[in-house]
Amino acid sequence: MRKVAVLGSTGSIGCSALEVVKAHPGRLAVAALAAGRNRDRLREQCESFRPARVSVATEEDARWLEAQLSYKPEIVSGAEGLMACALHEDADTVLAAIVGAAGLPSTEAALRKGRRVCVANKESLVVGGELMRRALEAGGGELLPVDSEHAALHQLLAGRAPADIAELRLTASGGPFRDWPLDRIRAATRDEALNHPTWKMGPKITIDSATLMNKGLEVIEASVLFGVGPEKIAVTVHAQSQVHAMVGFTDGTYQLQVCANDMKLPIQYCLLHPDKVPGPVPPYGWDQARSWTFEAPDLERFPCLGLAFDALRAGGTAPAILNAANEVAVAFFLEGRLSFWDIQACVRETLNAVPSEPMLDLPQALDADRRARAFAETWAARLAR
Ligand code: NDP
Repeated sequence: MRKVAVLGSTGSIGCSALEVVKAHPGRLAVAALAAGRNRDRLREQCESFRPARVSVATEEDARWLEAQLSYKPEIVSGAEGLMACALHEDADTVLAAIVGAAGLPSTEAALRKGRRVCVANKESLVVGGELMRRALEAGGGELLPVDSEHAALHQLLAGRAPADIAELRLTASGGPFRDWPLDRIRAATRDEALNHPTWKMGPKITIDSATLMNKGLEVIEASVLFGVGPEKIAVTVHAQSQVHAMVGFTDGTYQLQVCANDMKLPIQYCLLHPDKVPGPVPPYGWDQARSWTFEAPDLERFPCLGLAFDALRAGGTAPAILNAANEVAVAFFLEGRLSFWDIQACVRETLNAVPSEPMLDLPQALDADRRARAFAETWAARLAR
């Protein structure tokens, strides 16, 4: 029986993870749940899964939850509470599904503790990639990727020698603006950007999918996870989101990973690895007629993807700077204060203005994040409507 600490349990990934846990009562149980402000959903989750430790955003939320629950778990709060859930002594597995750079310290601590860490929080790998690798080595545990493309690559690469690999190719749906002309993209509204054609996700990652920054972050994530440089990572736009990744071998052949576009599949892959057992998602429907398309990404209409490759090539803290500027710009966009096209401009300006440095430790990564965030906020506030 695996006991799981779900960090970010009330989010899109967190809720899917709990569905996976529910589908495998004899194999998976919940040791701890950590969330932010959605206390109603957390209360329901606590009643269903009865975790021994629960973390909420504030002490006031903790008092509210204590009064609501029909049993008496340990209730903790804030960044310390999140950390306590990540390190719960009964949890052998941690699902890191907080959104944003706020997820870094808990992911790192769980890796250092030698847990199996299933990472959805791609920012942990983008901002602190090298540090996460060091924490993994120090702890001797496992790091498994929840992101569907990386879970696909993990499966495709199993048992392969690095010398056999010519390239890792991630697929991108292309987002809602895949076939829009540049002029229309520049003026895209919040509702248009939130209308993702193939995936249902949290708002931040949905905007990142519309700019293709999500794919850029995933390129950096792949480099960290699989130890390959930018010259061996490529992106293909595949609007149907059924092929999740491809591996090109040195003999010129490719292998593709195919499954339904449902995050419960990669989540189950990580939680139950290496076992493959029936779960909550039905087998792929090959009886249905299907058409798949593959196109090259257009970096003129989607410059964020090119900026992410630039940051990966620059190395050090450049990916952290890219990520921080993007988080700020997306938040401004979601509040209606910046235009869609301003997101890429904010990231570009921040990368130009904040110098990147070699990555030494977690405080330094978080400092690069803070400096980039401060610059991006000032830049965005000047432009804000
Ligand atoms: P959501 O916005 O849906 O959920 C985020 C979760 O994090 C919520 O539970 C939220 O709590 C919690 N949270 C946010 N900040 C804090 C904090 N400071 N302390 C504790 N909890 C916090 O995001 P997603 O589930 O979509 O994404 C989560 C991560 O997974 C992201 O890094 C994303 O890039 C990645 N990912 C997501 C995919 C998807 O399909 N959604 C696919 C691949 C990767 P609350 O809501 O209670 O405030």
